[in-house]
Amino acid sequence: MSLLITKRCINCDMCEPECPNEAISMGEAFYQINPNLCTECIGHYDKPTCQSVCPISNTIVKDPDNPETEEQLWDKFVLLHHADKI
Ligand code: SF4
Ligand code: SF4
Repeated sequence: MSLLITKRCINCDMCEPECPNEAISMGEAFYQINPNLCTECIGHYDKPTCQSVCPISNTIVKDPDNPETEEQLWDKFVLLHHADKI
């Protein structure tokens, strides 16, 4: 399941440069996550690094509209980073 940035975001810019998939960008009012690029950091980190660096608790949460299994997230990781080797 990709993650979602809620309106609790204070636009501190901490998460955007840390995302290994470049899934985070500025939205209309606050930062947003592209669900097509977010893998919950699978393949890179043990836990979502955007959540780790965010200073405001409960700002980055699981996106209920984008449910994915761990297997699907791994498939996405391979497509994003190793498509040339498939
Ligand atoms: S969980 Fe990882 S891949 Fe998803 S937006 Fe956060 S930093 Fe990027
Ligand atoms: S780290 Fe948290 S508060 Fe800062 S821009 Fe990202 S989501 Fe918003």
